[in-house]
Amino acid sequence: MTARIIDGNALSAKLRGELAAKAAELTAKGTQPCLAVILVGGDPASAVYVRNKVAGCEKAGIKSLKFEYPQDAAPADVLGKIAELNADPSVHGILVQLPLPKQFDEKEVLEAIAVEKDVDGFHAENVGRLSQGQEAFVPCTPNGVMEMLKSIEMPLRGAEAVVIGRSNIVGKPMAMLLTAAGATVTVCHSGTRDLNFHTRRADILVAAIGKPKFVTGDMVKPGATVIDVGINRLPDGKLCGDVDFESAKEVAGAITPVPGGVGPMTITMLLVNTVVSAERSLAKLKG
Ligand code: NDP
Repeated sequence: MTARIIDGNALSAKLRGELAAKAAELTAKGTQPCLAVILVGGDPASAVYVRNKVAGCEKAGIKSLKFEYPQDAAPADVLGKIAELNADPSVHGILVQLPLPKQFDEKEVLEAIAVEKDVDGFHAENVGRLSQGQEAFVPCTPNGVMEMLKSIEMPLRGAEAVVIGRSNIVGKPMAMLLTAAGATVTVCHSGTRDLNFHTRRADILVAAIGKPKFVTGDMVKPGATVIDVGINRLPDGKLCGDVDFESAKEVAGAITPVPGGVGPMTITMLLVNTVVSAERSLAKLKG
């Protein structure tokens, strides 16, 4: 039997519909949710991500502002723009598209964003709050994965979850969220001995590696839920994930495709965070 496909496009459409209603309500009350996006340099993949984020905003009735800088932009100019956006009460979310050119200190840029507008959830204070179970903006990709698990009513308490990858934007927050939800979590990385030993005992296997078709069917426990975060471009121009979909779907119980899986959910959760930020800002105005 082949696996159930977890359709990120369908789930996104449902959530974005609910979100558009909320955004319209806020707009009617004089607070249209607004996301400011900063793009530095000409990385084509980054340009596509930003275009999709801006288009997602438009469809949901969220205002978007886009600021573009050349590859050789001075960090002071970008930091100056962030300070301006921090001070602007009509802006609820600020996102700096990563990666940044090498003259930038990414950490410095991310920490310059006001915590209450950090809709990507990358600011160290948001990360700390998340780790302590306090209210925080949750990074969009792992948050989207949690929504996908919820959508299939995957029991998380006591489940064995294995996350491959320990990056700040995916692997680490993913592990935090699964831990908070009651799963027993193992985080694997390039130094892991006998990766297959771990992956084969996972009820939930999350691949966030950046290597095309790395996870093959023989690494998957029969019936497991496989979440493929990877986005890789093959030499023929096609997109593929970190999981070998064809072999894994024969073993897994449920699996996310690429494209049409975690990718659209990431943008959806960014829109969710922006609307939440606008709601908080309106509540503050009233309070
Ligand atoms: P990083 O390159 O920052 O991290 C990759 C992780 O994989 C590292 O922790 C690395 O280990 C680990 N790794 C690499 N090789 C191996 C190996 N042979 N065995 C076990 N672990 C290994 O990537 P990101 O987390 O930023 O992204 C991961 C993937 O997800 C990429 O394909 C990216 O494009 C995609 N992505 C998709 C998003 C979406 O919206 N769907 C959003 C963000 C990313 P170590 O730490 O030891 O180096």
